[in-house]
Amino acid sequence: MASRQVKKILVVGGGTAGWMTAAYLARWLESTAIQVTLVESEQIGTIGVGEATVPGIHQFIRDLDISEPEFISATNATFKLGIEFADWAGEGTHFFHPFASYGVPIEDRPFHKTWWSAKSQGYTTGLDKFCLCTQLARAGKFAQPGFDQDSRLAWYNYAYHFDASLFAKFLRGYAVKRGVSRIEGKVKHIQLDAASGFIQSLAMESGQIIEGDLFVDCTGSTALLIDKTLGVGYEDWSKWLLCDSALAVQTSRVMAPDPFTRSSARTAGWQWHIPLQHRVGNGYVYSSQFISPEQAHRELLENLAGALTTDPRLIRFTTGMRRDFWHKNCVAIGLSGGFLEPLESTSISLIQTGIAKLTSFLVDFEINEQHIAQANHLNRLEYERIRDFIILHYKLNRRSQPFWQHVRAMEVPATLMEKIALFRASGDIKLGEQESFKEDSWISMFYGFGLEPRGLEPSIDPEKIRTIMNNMAGAIQKGAVYANAHVEFLKTVVKGKFREYG
Ligand SMILES: Cc1cc2nc3c(=O)[nH]c(=O)nc-3n(C[C@H](O)[C@H](O)[C@H](O)COP(=O)(O)OP(=O)(O)OC[C@H]3O[C@@H](n4cnc5c(N)ncnc54)[C@H](O)[C@@H]3O)c2cc1C
Repeated sequence: MASRQVKKILVVGGGTAGWMTAAYLARWLESTAIQVTLVESEQIGTIGVGEATVPGIHQFIRDLDISEPEFISATNATFKLGIEFADWAGEGTHFFHPFASYGVPIEDRPFHKTWWSAKSQGYTTGLDKFCLCTQLARAGKFAQPGFDQDSRLAWYNYAYHFDASLFAKFLRGYAVKRGVSRIEGKVKHIQLDAASGFIQSLAMESGQIIEGDLFVDCTGSTALLIDKTLGVGYEDWSKWLLCDSALAVQTSRVMAPDPFTRSSARTAGWQWHIPLQHRVGNGYVYSSQFISPEQAHRELLENLAGALTTDPRLIRFTTGMRRDFWHKNCVAIGLSGGFLEPLESTSISLIQTGIAKLTSFLVDFEINEQHIAQANHLNRLEYERIRDFIILHYKLNRRSQPFWQHVRAMEVPATLMEKIALFRASGDIKLGEQESFKEDSWISMFYGFGLEPRGLEPSIDPEKIRTIMNNMAGAIQKGAVYANAHVEFLKTVVKGKFREYG
């Protein structure tokens, strides 16, 4: 295939994926003559969920040159320091996955290894006491991290919870202002070029024909272009990730918003709690093999604070990924490209990295087969690594219901088994290429689920180690005391007393 020059890009779909893509392209192509058009159908609508993020979102906001306070106000966002996992390691337990590391190395040894060796000798202060981010979250507080400080103890990261519909609206305003054309209506038919098999044009229900050189499929799980038209198949991962349904509902806010997402284990899945400034997003992600929709509905309602402001809505999904996210002149971004359940809030971040791959591999604005192959390879690695991290949560659970017993006993990918085995044997974490979750995330899971490495000896005098560690924990505790309550901190954003990220 000769390279093909791109002059016109069509983004099909106006959900989170569509408007993130259009906004990013508008900024990226500002000084070129390349046109961007987005087609969306209000009648079909969007999935309307997807409100918790990971810290990578800062890069997106920065790339678009959006002011952080403006973004927070426009989307009714709150701050997110990580995720609390309630009841996953057994009824009554909870642990925290922070956007941060634990302690600092002692005598060049990774802190977690020193801590586990001290624990095996009777040290009782928990690993989470060495993480300011976790301590702030537990106290319902928020402060901006000390990125520029020498002290690594004061370093952590944060993300946001935001209103998905306000986010899309905000990005739509941004994109349209920068020249993106928007066409409302349903795509009825897609015309292919007989010789190349490339997509040539979209035929709208209105009769309008829209031509393009590059098509971004953001049509959600319908995958109208990449699947229904080009026939690029889907790799189904539901043998490892059994949840296939979610009941989503919004409730009124009855308490100050937590600076974290909560994931509470339930009979056959888990429930999310995402606090925004004006309301709370909730949902029960479950496996329909182990619980009926009626039982799940009941269990969800029994575990909500606040009044319902929407009716519970059932969403079905198949966990997995598109075999190739880029095929010929079509790139699948968002749910058309794959779906991993929202346990670690990774979908919006996958949209972002999908856009990054599209723009990096569209070298000189040309569609080139070699570049497409590289992009697909990296995309696959990224998806598989996240998949393994999510499976880990199920594999290590300590609950007793049939669903949980099943997922604990199931065979998991060899890549994941290797990571677990290595950690058990040595306390080491081996990261591969395109790994979204770094060492600290794996440590927080192993710690939270009570998995211990074997035979870690103290590297220096145990008494000296204890003294150093106690000093660290004390410094973190002091830091947490000085921070504001999250809800108070949010007011400083509104009052304009906010320092931009980083
Ligand atoms: C239960 C659940 C919870 C989630 N929680 C999170 C979370 O906390 N964090 C996170 O990062 N992600 C989360 N996600 C994922 C997140 O919701 C999606 O990644 C994100 O919303 C992107 O969706 P989308 O834009 O691909 O699809 P959609 O929102 O479905 O948008 C599809 C668009 O295509 C248009 N369209 C479709 N067919 C046609 C047609 N024929 N003609 C014209 N237009 C058409 C539709 O009108 C719509 O505009 C969650 C997903 C689920 C299912």
